[in-house]
Amino acid sequence: MKLEGIHHVTAITADAPRNVEFYAGLLGLRMVKKTVNQDDPTVYHLFYADERGDPGSDITFFEYPDARQGRTGAGIVHTVRWRVASEEALDFWERRLDNHMLARAPGRLEFADPEGLRHELAVVQTSDEPLTAEHPEILAEFALQGFDGVRAFSADPERSREFFEQTLGFQPQKDDTWEVRGERRGSTYEFDAPPEGIGIGGAGTVHHVAWASAIDEHDAWRDRVAAGGGHVTPIIDRYYFKSIYFREPSGVLFEIATIGPGFATDEPIEHLGERLSLPPAFEHLREQVEPLLTPLPNPRETAAAP
Ligand code: ZN
Repeated sequence: MKLEGIHHVTAITADAPRNVEFYAGLLGLRMVKKTVNQDDPTVYHLFYADERGDPGSDITFFEYPDARQGRTGAGIVHTVRWRVASEEALDFWERRLDNHMLARAPGRLEFADPEGLRHELAVVQTSDEPLTAEHPEILAEFALQGFDGVRAFSADPERSREFFEQTLGFQPQKDDTWEVRGERRGSTYEFDAPPEGIGIGGAGTVHHVAWASAIDEHDAWRDRVAAGGGHVTPIIDRYYFKSIYFREPSGVLFEIATIGPGFATDEPIEHLGERLSLPPAFEHLREQVEPLLTPLPNPRETAAAP
């Protein structure tokens, strides 16, 4: 039983329209689901991914319109790393990202979204399938290819080692880095020394990282996390996948989510993300919540704009 790398990464935005413009318009991801936060259905939960909404490419945002700016610190994922194919792809992104750029080095590039969430693009040799979306301004060979990994802050990475390696099956790599690899995909998880001051969740920070599990192994993962000492939630049916949540010993909020049933469960694959999707348990709220939600640009029109 192995985790198949990252399933999704969830962060917080205080500005959903600008978030759509950045992730669908500039980065060229596909909005694959526009739904509400199941814990607060008056605000969005937005999902961006590759063309099919595959786990391994899916970055999602809770919209909290009044959220203050967050601050990364111990126990928070501070950087999301994506794969690209080549140094030429990095050249393309360096030009396209323009004033969002932070740094460029051989094989990698760093940038931040408009709310300060940090990302890296890395040229990575892998046989994992590239998970790409289509965008009129981005050649397929330059497109983001899905997650390579995440970096988090921990004051004491050793505190997490036994849980990672014995319970979750993370494979130790160099320094404070682990590979999380299943039969089909892998990702890395890396710790860095935290900055001064405590981390505060808020706009521009990662809320949690989810690891991918086969549907028929999800119950067993819950048992294993509990046996390993994790304070794990019951299985929660998120409709597009099932989830459990727990904090790893360094304080980062982890989720294990099932690969499937997926985003085509309630709308055709050609029209993912175009209308507001409400899981059946929330459909009766549609007339109440739709007028409360922030108007959003059409992500594909944003993508096609000059
Ligand atoms: Zn999640």
